[in-house]
Parts: sequence; C-alpha cells; structure tokens
Amino acid sequence: MSQSVYQFSTEQIEKMKQHYKASLKPNPPQSASFSAKVNGCTITAYKSGKVLFQGGQYEQEASKWTGGKTTTKKGSTQRKQKPLPSFLNENHIGTDEAGSGDYFGPMTAAAAYVTNENRPLLERIGVRDSKNLRDDDVIRIAKDLVKANIPYSLVVLRNEKYNEWQKRGWSQGKMKAILHYQVIKKVREKMNSAKDAGIVVDQFAQPAVFERYLKSEGLPIPKHIHYLTKAESHSIAVAAGSILARAKFLSEMDKLSAATGITLQKGASHLVDQQAAFFLKEKGEDFMTTCAKVHFANTEKAKRLM
Ligand code: MG
Repeated sequence: MSQSVYQFSTEQIEKMKQHYKASLKPNPPQSASFSAKVNGCTITAYKSGKVLFQGGQYEQEASKWTGGKTTTKKGSTQRKQKPLPSFLNENHIGTDEAGSGDYFGPMTAAAAYVTNENRPLLERIGVRDSKNLRDDDVIRIAKDLVKANIPYSLVVLRNEKYNEWQKRGWSQGKMKAILHYQVIKKVREKMNSAKDAGIVVDQFAQPAVFERYLKSEGLPIPKHIHYLTKAESHSIAVAAGSILARAKFLSEMDKLSAATGITLQKGASHLVDQQAAFFLKEKGEDFMTTCAKVHFANTEKAKRLM
C-alpha cells in the first residue's frame, strides 16, 4: 500500500487533529492520538509523534503538513523517519518472547497473525503493549485472544532444555532466535494466507546476528521478515504475540509453583536468590535445572546464602 511516515511535534499533531475534526475515525488504534480519513487517505497520528499517511492521495495530504519536503535540512525538527514496514496496517505476523529475564521458569515465544478482518476485534479485546499491562490483564486478554480464534502459535522452552542449550554454548539471543523461528514457521503452516504475510519481530539483536543464529542451525531466514525495536507499540500483531507469550510464561510459573510448593518469584531479585538457596539446600543442584535458568548469577548468589 502507498504510504509515507513523518515525525511531527505535539503541537503540530494537535493542529492536525483540529484540521481533520470532521473526518476523525471513531476507534483509533490504542497507540494513536487520532485517526482520520479524507479523500481515501487515512491519516494516523501516533503518540510517538509519527504520522502515517496511507492510501488515496497520501503524498498530497502529507505535503500539506510537510510543505512538500521529503527530506529535511539539518537542525530541522521535522525529519524524515526511516519508513516503517508498509504492511503494519495490513495482514501480518508479529512475534515476541517472555521469561528471558526471569531466573525461575521457562522462556516462551509466540507469533500472532493479525488480519484486517480480526484487527478491530483485537482492539476491542484490549490488545496493546503488554509492558503497560498488569499480569491479570495479560491473562484475561490472552484468554480472549484464544477464544476469538486468532491464529497464533506458542512455544515453551522448558528449563531442562534451556540449560542443555546453554551448556552447548548457546547464548540466550540464539535461543530466542530459534524460538521466534519456530513460532513463525508454525503460524505460517497453520494459516495458508499467512504464508506470504510480512513478519515483525520484536527486535532483541541486530538483524545480521539474528540471521547468523538461524544459519548456524541450518535454518532458512523467513521471507518478509522485519525487525523493530519496541515493536509492540507499532504492531498489534507483536502486541498480541507478546501477551500470549507472557500469559504462557505466567501459567507455567503457576504450574512450577504448585509443583515446588512455593510461589516462585519472577525476575532475578534477592528474593529469587533466597528461594534458590532454599531449593539448593532441600533438593540439590540437579533440581535447579528443572525450574531455573542456572547460568544466571542468582545460582552463585544463592550458594553464598546457604
Ligand atoms: Mg520483546
């Protein structure tokens, strides 16, 4: 789709909102200050200051605000952004992982496939950047996503396997890359129409590094793959993937807590060290490989607490 993206100041965006007052769309995306449609062109102004002009006479509409400039002079506040992938507002796949910073519990990853058809439903369910959501909201939204039959795939890298991979010399980045690859493959297998859809990966490594990890395991680079930092705020598919991955991590933590008889702490704080020390004393080092990422510094700190 034909589109362009520009960065504007808050004042400029406020002016635009006034200008498009009569054409505002009733349900702008969560991350947008407003969305409007004029002469076949959709204008979406994001809270980040980015404004997307899409379809219709998009260049003409944008030039009303940019003065026709596509590049800007040094020192100008109005600079041209590296364009976001053009498929963000069309059918696409988004991926994210959870649990990578938590000593206890697995690492999970999820891919969600969002189509123009199910996009409004996702917005109604409340899918948005999970960093701004409480755990119980994450769980509720994930349940609604599953109920709504949104195509997705999910993998859990259990602690035994995580620790095995780590012993093989794999970095956490490599593990993440493999998990992202697996969920992309699965969701594409599930949905025929997703085969050629663009993919947004919530970026955790330089693209070349990510691709090197896949190649090192003989895996192909998925077609139409894009890497974006803070991707949850640009892509509703990444936001959905992120919620699904996080909810799975939380439910796995609940299961582990039930199995170990202790409500396991998330993160990698001193409280985590204390719980690890308790397990080391009661159940020994082998047990830790079943419930923790043992290469974290918490293991050594826990040993010092014993
Ligand atoms: Mg992420």
